[in-house]
Amino acid sequence: IYEYPKSREAFQRALRVIPSGIYGHQGPSEGCYIPQSAFPLFSSYAKGAHFWDLDGNDFIDYMCGYGPNVLGYGDSDVDTAALEQRKKEDCVTAPSSVMVDFAELLVDTVASADWAFFAKNGSDVTTLAVLTARAATRRKKIIFFNGYYHGVHPWTQKLDYPGVLEEDVANNLYVKFNDYPALEKLFNEHRGEIAGIITQPYAHGNFNDNYFADAGYWQKIRKLCDESGSVLIVDDVRCGFRLDLAGSDHYFGFQADLICFCKALANGYNVSALCGRDSLRDVVSSLSYTGSYWMSAVPFAAGIACINKLKALNAPKLFHELGTKLTEGFKAAAANNGFDLAVSGAPSLFYLRLADDESLMLHQQWVAECVKRGIFLTSHHNHFINAALTEEDINRSIEIAEDAFHALKDAD
Ligand code: PMP
Repeated sequence: IYEYPKSREAFQRALRVIPSGIYGHQGPSEGCYIPQSAFPLFSSYAKGAHFWDLDGNDFIDYMCGYGPNVLGYGDSDVDTAALEQRKKEDCVTAPSSVMVDFAELLVDTVASADWAFFAKNGSDVTTLAVLTARAATRRKKIIFFNGYYHGVHPWTQKLDYPGVLEEDVANNLYVKFNDYPALEKLFNEHRGEIAGIITQPYAHGNFNDNYFADAGYWQKIRKLCDESGSVLIVDDVRCGFRLDLAGSDHYFGFQADLICFCKALANGYNVSALCGRDSLRDVVSSLSYTGSYWMSAVPFAAGIACINKLKALNAPKLFHELGTKLTEGFKAAAANNGFDLAVSGAPSLFYLRLADDESLMLHQQWVAECVKRGIFLTSHHNHFINAALTEEDINRSIEIAEDAFHALKDAD
């Protein structure tokens, strides 16, 4: 059973100089829903599907840095491409033409891409997509699906979050995912006002089982947007390149007007991309939008190597197979110990919940028992598969999951 004295010590130092010590998902400020004592707080080394924490504990990592680790930490092909570019130049007054190479690769790879615009974070490109929709339509309203996450910029936040103004979210409309009549009603109520819809390719929200839309849903949305002149934005920041290298809209059989990528784009090198249709190219050109590091060349070189390797591996199929094997093993381990583990979402981004416990506490306890034994899961967020995961890792993970169920039973 792992212990984390060095992580805790570093965290005490962090608290003195960093607000909340660690912000974001792993921050104990969100610790109301993860049993903090079970988790390491800082890492020191990462390779393949594993990372090691400050105390030297080894984890098989199913969070993948919340997505960017898609080929394996320290992938040699990506790192070599980045290093070669680094030797030439990175962040320079005029961009490197490697930016063009990367855009060409995305246009060739992503079905709904006629162009690509690069930035750094998912939030940069979801915000660019909304700006584009508003500029193209000269309308204000944006439709969101309940349970969404589109980043941290004020327009994505909730009115009751600190610092958010009514004005920031005044033009947001919210509706249930996969309820077409409700969406149609909203369009009718706001006829001529809707700039666009921003949507994840399926419901992959936190604290809820993940689910896909019913057959025909996306095609009806596509038609509704076409008829009302609204822009259909797919936020593929999380699922992008794990479901389908041609885009998650392609996977579900429809075409986005704008599609946002980030996490899996360059195996951890920092770059994001908005891709879109020809009809919106001039609108994007007209916007005032850029950033200090947005044209740095090293992440472009890394992105090219990453996408090419994902293609060579036929990665979405591999992720599906690995995720299916792992989650079937987890389910069997649960059943062997009298528990029912609900697995939902795409196997490459699987979501777990111990059924028959509405409080979710039992699930948290099981996750804690897993983490303390060396598989890094998290309680109420989808997980991520990467290509470096071996059979041995999967078998070991299933063994640990089984031990964790034993511990849960014993604690009962
Ligand atoms: N959209 C989705 C679906 C995401 O999962 C995320 C990141 N978790 C974002 C947008 C925001 O991306 P970033 O944190 O890089 O700004």
